[in-house]
Amino acid sequence: MSEVTGTIIRVSGPLVVARGMAGSKMYDVVRVSEKRLLGEIIQLRGDEAAIQVYEETAGIGPGEPVYPTYEPLSVELGPGLLETIYDGVQRPLHLLEEKAGYFITRGIEVPALSRERKWHFVPLCQKGDTVGPGDVIGEVAETVLVKHRILVPPGVQGRVREIAEGDFCVTDPVAVLETATGEHRLTTVQRWPVRQPRPVRRRLPPDEPLLTGQRIIDTFFPIAKGGTACVPGPFGSGKTVIQHQFAEWSDADIVIFVGCGERGNEMTDVLLEFPKLKDPKSGEPLMKRTVLIANTSNMPVAAREASVYTAITIGEYFRDMGYSVALQADSTSRWAEAMREISGRLEEMPGEEGYPAYLATRIAEFYERAGRVTCLGRYQGKEMEGSLTVIGSVSPPGGDLNDPVVQATLRVVKVFWSLEDKLAFQRHFPAISWLRSYSLYTDVVAAAMAQRTQPDFLEHARQAMALLQKEAELEEIVRLVGKDTLSAEDRLVLEVARSLREDFLHQNAFHEIDTYTSLKKQAAMLAVILRFYALTREALNRGAEIDQIEKLPVRERIARMKFIPEEEFESALNALHRQLEAEINRLSGNYD
Ligand code: ADP
Repeated sequence: MSEVTGTIIRVSGPLVVARGMAGSKMYDVVRVSEKRLLGEIIQLRGDEAAIQVYEETAGIGPGEPVYPTYEPLSVELGPGLLETIYDGVQRPLHLLEEKAGYFITRGIEVPALSRERKWHFVPLCQKGDTVGPGDVIGEVAETVLVKHRILVPPGVQGRVREIAEGDFCVTDPVAVLETATGEHRLTTVQRWPVRQPRPVRRRLPPDEPLLTGQRIIDTFFPIAKGGTACVPGPFGSGKTVIQHQFAEWSDADIVIFVGCGERGNEMTDVLLEFPKLKDPKSGEPLMKRTVLIANTSNMPVAAREASVYTAITIGEYFRDMGYSVALQADSTSRWAEAMREISGRLEEMPGEEGYPAYLATRIAEFYERAGRVTCLGRYQGKEMEGSLTVIGSVSPPGGDLNDPVVQATLRVVKVFWSLEDKLAFQRHFPAISWLRSYSLYTDVVAAAMAQRTQPDFLEHARQAMALLQKEAELEEIVRLVGKDTLSAEDRLVLEVARSLREDFLHQNAFHEIDTYTSLKKQAAMLAVILRFYALTREALNRGAEIDQIEKLPVRERIARMKFIPEEEFESALNALHRQLEAEINRLSGNYD
C-alpha cells in the first residue's frame, strides 16, 4: 500500500469525496478510512476524487484517510468460480457469513477464490511450445460438469519452460514461460478489470440459435448464441419460472445469474431456489455449471451498480474458454436505479426521470459485451468459438414500458419477450405475448434452424403467426358484433388459432415431458396443426360443416401431442397424421 493518502472532505451515503488523490485514475480501487471500506473512484477533478463505496459508510466522516491502490476494480478468474454465490464485488457470500455472521462486517477482505483448495491441473501443452494470449495451457476438472480451461492471460506470450501435472492452489505456479521481458510464472488465477471488455480474436455473426426447449421462444422469438434479450416481469407473470427454465434447458454450458433485488425476499428466493435446480442432462445440481451473483437488500447500492460488470466479466472469461455462456441479469432496472442514486449524489445534471444522461450509453455498453466470437486463444492449436448471451429483465414502475430504462434497453437488445400478467391471470403459461414479442434474429438463425428441422419449418412458423394475428383481428369483430356473423372460414381460423395457443404455445414447466420440447418435435407439432388447417379448409370448400370439423376426434389427440415423449414422437405423429387424413376423408366422403 502506498504512503500517499487522501483525506475525506464529504460523505453522502455511498459516496465519499476525498482530497489529495493526485496520481489515482478513474475506476481505481481505494480503501476508505481505517475501517478499509472498499471503494472505487468514479469522478476525478484535480486531486479531488468522488468515490463510490461498496460498504455501509455510517460513522465515516471528514478528515479520515483514503488509501489508494492504483488498481482498477477487478475480478479474480480461475477454478472455484462455479457453485459460488458472490456479492456484487465478488466476495463469496458464504465466506462472508462465516467470517462475519449474517450481517457483513465492514472492511473485511476475503479472496474471491479459495487460497487453500487444491485443484488437479492437467497440462495441455509441452515444454518448448510457444503460447500466446488466451491459449489453453491446461485443464482443471472444476466440477463434474465443467472442465475449467486455464488460459494464458491477455498480453502474455512466451515459450513454455516448465509445466507439470499436479495438485495446485490457484496461486501456485503451474507453468513457467520465457517471455521477451523475462520469466513469467503462470498460475490458474488471473485478474481482469470489470469495466473493460475482455479481448477476442474476432466477432462472429449471431447466426446460431441458443435453443431453450421452450416452444414460444424457439419457434417464434428465437435468441441467438451471443444475442441479447429483454424481458419485463410484472409480479406473478411467471418470470421466475421462465428464468429457471432458461437456466436449466438452454443449450449453454455455463449459467451466470446476477440478481439485483430491491426487496430482500426477492434475493432470498434466488438464493434458496437456484441451488435446488437440476441440470437436466446429468441430474447433477445446476450450480455445478453456475455462478450466482446476488445483491441482498442490506448491501449498499454501489455494489449493485458494480454487480452487472462483475457478472459479465466472469461470463466473458468462460466464453474465452470456448464455452457458450448464458447470463441473466435481474433486474437491470434496479441496476439503473443504483446508477441514478449515485449520479444524484454526484450532483450531475439529471436526464429523463432523474436518470443520468449517460444511462443509455451504459446500458448499450453492457449489452455490447454479449456476442459470439472466435476466442483470443487456441485449444491444442485449434481456434475456439465461444458465446455470451445476455438476457436482462426490466421492472419499470407501474409496468410502464415508456420508462427510460426500458426504452434504452429496447434500443440495443434484439429480442423482446413480452411477459404479461394478463396472460398469467388466464393461466396461459408461459405468459409471453405472441402479439407483442419480437426477435430480430429470426432471419439470422433461419439457415441453422432449417438445418435442424424440416425445410418448411420457417414457413410454418410464419403461417402460424399470421393465424394468431388474424385471430386477434377476428376477436375484435366478435366483441363488436358477435360470433354468428363470422364466416365458416373465419370460424376455422379461430379454431386453428385456439389449437396453436392451447396445444402449442401453452407449455407446462412442471410437466415432466412438456417442460422441454426439442426443436425437431416443435417443428413436427407445428406441422400437424397446420396440416389440420390445410385439410379442414379444403373440406370446408368441398361443403363440410364447421361444427363437424370442430368436433373431430383427432383434435383431442392433437391437444395431447405435447405430452408424447421425445423418443416416441416421430412414430406417434405419423400415426396422428394418418388419423387426421382418415377423419377428413370420412368427412369429405359425406359430402363429395
Ligand atoms: P413471478 O416470478 O413473475 O412473480 P412465478 O415465476 O413465480 O412469477 O410464477 C407464478 C406462478 O405461475 C408459478 O408458481 C406457477 O404456478 C405459474 N407458472 C408460471 N409459469 C408457468 C409455466 N411455464 N408452466 C406452468 N405454470 C407456470
